[in-house]
Amino acid sequence: MSDPLESTTGIALAEPPTPAAAAPPSPAAFDPRFAPEEPWRFAPVYPFPRLELVSGKGARVVDRTGRSYLDFVSGIAVNALGHCPPVVTRAIARQARELVHCSNLFANRPAVRLAEALATATGYPRVFFCNSGTEAIEAALKFARARASQRPGRDVVAFRGGFHGRTAFALATTWQPSYREPFEPLVPGVRFGDYNDVAGLDALFDNRVAAVIVEPVQGEAGAIPATAEFLAAVRAKATAVGAALIFDEVQSGMGRCGRLLAQEHYAVRGDLTVLSKALGGGMPLGAVLMTEDVARTLTPGMHGCTFGGNPLVTTAGLAVLDRVSRPATLSRVRSRSRELLRGLAAIVSRHPSVALARGLGLLTAIELAPDAPFDPPALVRACREHGLLVVRGGDRAVRLLPPLVVTSQEIAEALERLEAAIASLETPRPTAGEVG
Ligand code: PLP
Repeated sequence: MSDPLESTTGIALAEPPTPAAAAPPSPAAFDPRFAPEEPWRFAPVYPFPRLELVSGKGARVVDRTGRSYLDFVSGIAVNALGHCPPVVTRAIARQARELVHCSNLFANRPAVRLAEALATATGYPRVFFCNSGTEAIEAALKFARARASQRPGRDVVAFRGGFHGRTAFALATTWQPSYREPFEPLVPGVRFGDYNDVAGLDALFDNRVAAVIVEPVQGEAGAIPATAEFLAAVRAKATAVGAALIFDEVQSGMGRCGRLLAQEHYAVRGDLTVLSKALGGGMPLGAVLMTEDVARTLTPGMHGCTFGGNPLVTTAGLAVLDRVSRPATLSRVRSRSRELLRGLAAIVSRHPSVALARGLGLLTAIELAPDAPFDPPALVRACREHGLLVVRGGDRAVRLLPPLVVTSQEIAEALERLEAAIASLETPRPTAGEVG
């Protein structure tokens, strides 16, 4: 294990705080696979220290001790083409030698080409580029309010369980109270309804509603797909009161659900659709797709973004979109999805601690039974010990988000590791007296 105070930058690191001032060391602090400096050096907004990854190829990553894992997190649905896909790495290396950044005071060809490719692939004629999911949601909500400038109200409808990001407006539409409450007051005017509750929509919509924001599949809540009736009813209500429908496809879009946009499964279109995560192939890129009707109300200077759509990230976006929008890629995602969901259902049938499996495409999850003898973080840890990376979703679920290029063999391997991890938690460990 390397010395935790050794600097890889050549800059001498200060001593960590005295033990009295530092967080109490967790067992993970002594795990050679974890980055030992993190508890002292980073803002404590993540659980530190974390497993330190050093390289990746396809669906596999390697930690600092050289151990390999099957990666069913994919950077939280970012690495759609797996780790370091040559088609992306070659494209960005080439572009980095030409022009990396020039600001939105100037046009750049990769951004123009990506805007055109997105319009052709999705049918939304206009786009605004930025750097992340939350920024793109922020922009979409602002655009929807701008569109409603002549209306009696500017309220926004959002849904319980929804996650839309961490900046003020996106956070105001995010359900999880523990994410919102430390930062209130946020942007006012947001009303929450129950996801998939068609009957409840009547009470939510009136002519003061400017926008409704919804995920076709709630990702962070644990891969919960909307029902077709619900999305159709949301569209109808939005149209009836003149509100803009914003589809948050930050997680569900870019082929993850087996169609380029998850909304295609439902044959319901938004006025705005937000993409990020997979779009940049690991580079920070967000996009707000919109109709001409929405774009019409925007004017120069109303919104902007220094880095948004720079030539480097849009080059990556073009390479990803080209691969992900191919019918063969999407059909392969649907086939792998059937294998994964079938395997997860089989695990449910064999393990009473797992209540159900669900998802759409390769946005999938298992939900633990209320009386399971372990919780989702314990299962995430056990999976890691079995060489499989997964991520929590909602209060009781664990998500599996393999790259879209995952093979049948890798899915079978992941299912085996997941089941072994579950079995290890279901079997009580023998106490000292029981051994031998
Ligand atoms: N919307 C959805 C559906 C998401 O899943 C996320 C992130 O997980 C976001 C928005 C926010 O994206 P970002 O973390 O890039 O700001």
